[in-house]
Amino acid sequence: MLRTLLLPCTLGLAFTAAAQHPAWFALQTDSASLVREARALTERFIADVRAAAPDVRLRPRVVERTTPYLIFYSEADTTVNLPLWDKVPPPLKEFLTQVGGDEATGRALFAHYFNGFYLPHELGHALIDALGLAPASGSYAEEKKANALAMAWWREQGRTRELAACLELARTALAHTPVPDTEGLGTEAFLTRYYERATQDPFLYGYVQFGQFVELYDDPALPGFAEQVRALVAQR
Ligand SMILES: [Zn+2]
Repeated sequence: MLRTLLLPCTLGLAFTAAAQHPAWFALQTDSASLVREARALTERFIADVRAAAPDVRLRPRVVERTTPYLIFYSEADTTVNLPLWDKVPPPLKEFLTQVGGDEATGRALFAHYFNGFYLPHELGHALIDALGLAPASGSYAEEKKANALAMAWWREQGRTRELAACLELARTALAHTPVPDTEGLGTEAFLTRYYERATQDPFLYGYVQFGQFVELYDDPALPGFAEQVRALVAQR
């Protein structure tokens, strides 16, 4: 159902959207164009950070390196690592099919989030790291900050249609995801205490990430991108 709802408007807008925006929120089929599009968006993100906080130095390298983490920022070598669908391990494709409800929706989830929404999320981690604010291991709160930066940034790029498609996909994924067993801690405390372990469980990690997306999408008090950047800088 989701596919039939999304396809007509996606197709109808393909040409005008391509003229206005780089091809993003779309399944990337080769490494070179994946990295090229991501680098162009990264330059824009860095310029927006600089406009809000001129003294912040942010210079992440953008590479294609498909791993079971799918998309991630590495503090060790300051890289944003992007995944290519063709190289995604089969168990993760199965996970996406399962939470999507069918294969096509699983692919759409990958395209909209891992070749889409999560790029500025990872750049948000890069910013938090550059400011010396990243906890030793990840946390629920840091994920929320990265998602909030990404939500505000995409809105300010005029990508409201893509964000609306992401919202539908997040709701679909949550409807197919069992409420995780967090050993009585609740997702927030569990994720913070067992971050590494949680990232190994795509259902739990997806539950947290899609849950945060839905919450932030509907948050009328979400500050704008520059305001969020300045608030982070003030915590340095
Ligand atoms: Zn993250």
